[in-house]
Amino acid sequence: MTTLSFAQTLVVWQEQRGRMDLPWQRFRTPYERWLSEVMLQQTQVETVIPYYERFLKTFPTVESLAAAQEDAVMKLWAGLGYYSRGRNLHRAAKMVVNDLKGLFPDTAAGLAELPGVGPSTAAAVAAFTSGEAREPMIDGNVKRVLARIHAVPGRVGEKAFEKLLEAAARRELPGSDIIAPYTQGLMDLGSLVCRRKAPNCPACPVQRFCRAHAEGTPEVYPQPKTARPKTERWLVLVFASTAEGLWFAPVEGRIWKGLQAPIVLERKEADWLKRPELPQGFREPVALGESRVHELTHQRLHLRALFCRNADAFALRSAGLHPAGLHPERWPGLPAPVLEYAEELIKRQSV
Ligand code: SF4
Repeated sequence: MTTLSFAQTLVVWQEQRGRMDLPWQRFRTPYERWLSEVMLQQTQVETVIPYYERFLKTFPTVESLAAAQEDAVMKLWAGLGYYSRGRNLHRAAKMVVNDLKGLFPDTAAGLAELPGVGPSTAAAVAAFTSGEAREPMIDGNVKRVLARIHAVPGRVGEKAFEKLLEAAARRELPGSDIIAPYTQGLMDLGSLVCRRKAPNCPACPVQRFCRAHAEGTPEVYPQPKTARPKTERWLVLVFASTAEGLWFAPVEGRIWKGLQAPIVLERKEADWLKRPELPQGFREPVALGESRVHELTHQRLHLRALFCRNADAFALRSAGLHPAGLHPERWPGLPAPVLEYAEELIKRQSV
């Protein structure tokens, strides 16, 4: 009887128990797989699915994406977070169309030259579209699985840990005949069985390969990252309305760049609750709702909002804003916490 290797065992399991009906699994073509892999960076599958489908419907080809305006791309991205991904996606599409005659590179090394495509995303796209088995895909789930299989000591992000993990991932790489289901199998195992908390070892197809299981303490691998203190930012959102509804402008700053928002004033903590100086024409600001805290990966945003009813349209235009009506469906590019305030305004019918 032949004994199956780790990769072969995982592939058999993936084909019987893994996920087979994700929307991007219908494709073996690089545009659709690149789009899904970029969206899946640091984002759960369930969150990505509706964004992916909307995106593909609006931009069915790399040419249509490259020809779009950046704000149309960012409007569709709004709510998915990590907005630099959306901007890089657009830049990469332009690069493929303008510099590569519309053809995606067919190797991980070539794909990694595109903006926003790191080695892991490149390896996944190459595995799924051209069966290249030269580079391993190592996302967060895969790190956890392989750290447990090989009992890799240390924390994610530490040099020694990352080096050992990469060496283990390279050792396990199968041939190109099964690289696609193997890569999918690692992802599926990490999300369905070898979860961060309470891994389901009794149901695990690769239990016999797993050193952490043999040690009896799988959850200690990998050790959690040491939390970096977040940067605290103190922001005031200034909403303004006229007979034409609420007014917004494209955001220039780093956090929501490319999205739409009212005026965003950055304040010192000590001044955050004081009435800020407003551009001319922003009349009689009143506080709107409660202050909120919005957590990003490396930043904590403290938000409060002011509302100026019957602002001066001329002044608003001079401040770079444009009218966007009163209906949330006309505001697809608002970041989530801004949208919550805007909806509160409409609910209270104070506009
Ligand atoms: Fe993860 Fe347990 Fe499977 Fe090891 S045996 S890979 S810890 S689920």
